[in-house]
Amino acid sequence: MTTARMPAAFLGHGSPMNAIESNRYTRAWQAFGACAPARPRAVLVISAHWYVPYTAVTAMAMPRTIHDFFGFPAELFAVQYPAPGDPDLAGEIAEIVKPTHVGLDHDGWGLDHGTWSVLVHAFPKADIPVLQLSIDTTRPPEWHVELGAQLAPLRERGVVIVGSGNVVHNLRTMDWSRTEFAFDWARRFDDAATELLTSRPGDVAALADHPAYGHAVPTPEHFLPLLYVAGMARAAGQPLSAFVHGHAFGSISMACHGLDVRCPDTGEAGPSAPIPVSIRPEDTNT
Ligand code: ZN
Repeated sequence: MTTARMPAAFLGHGSPMNAIESNRYTRAWQAFGACAPARPRAVLVISAHWYVPYTAVTAMAMPRTIHDFFGFPAELFAVQYPAPGDPDLAGEIAEIVKPTHVGLDHDGWGLDHGTWSVLVHAFPKADIPVLQLSIDTTRPPEWHVELGAQLAPLRERGVVIVGSGNVVHNLRTMDWSRTEFAFDWARRFDDAATELLTSRPGDVAALADHPAYGHAVPTPEHFLPLLYVAGMARAAGQPLSAFVHGHAFGSISMACHGLDVRCPDTGEAGPSAPIPVSIRPEDTNT
């Protein structure tokens, strides 16, 4: 087992179409995967898309690829990410966070698109074991920060940590055709988040007091993965640093915030393709 401390990052996943595109965000995810100081033992992902009234970790040997969205092209439904799981590590995670209870999920979930849409770029060979941790809908923000801090020792056990969501995520106000656009309130909230994360990441829950919070975070599931990574920053006594910034569709922040992430510049902004969805954004489960 490697003892090098592995990086942790919050990745703004945006549209699931990013899984089959190449743009500066996907290049940043790729650079993040490549910056690990040694071959990781596993990747643990806290994805916005496993948001249930309990905390569990996937514990199956071969997690399935879940296509948990609607209205996208067949090409996206054809994507498979056949990374193995790691049942032993799942048990280790349940131990490390005690007395917090983390259930072992042997046959329920798998890898949802919050996980595979970024890992197809970060770890394209799908040969490193991947586990997902669910987000407990019943807990207050500070609880998630604390659980993130409890999980921090995994980084010394060879585990790369990924929080996958979006700092700003409002499907009702978004416009799929405006690929690089941000509403003023979205930009203000995103900037405030960056400022806080680069100075006092452990206080991330204070963003709930920001005047734009209600618009930026109309539902918490895409915001909460950030709290886990912020908790790890608090545990390490280090600030987070943003390794890519950007906005899409008016009300999605694509910012990524990392801990011990050493990424090269992933280039200038270039427009990504408009999203070919056939239904309303709020019905896509993205
Ligand atoms: Zn999403």
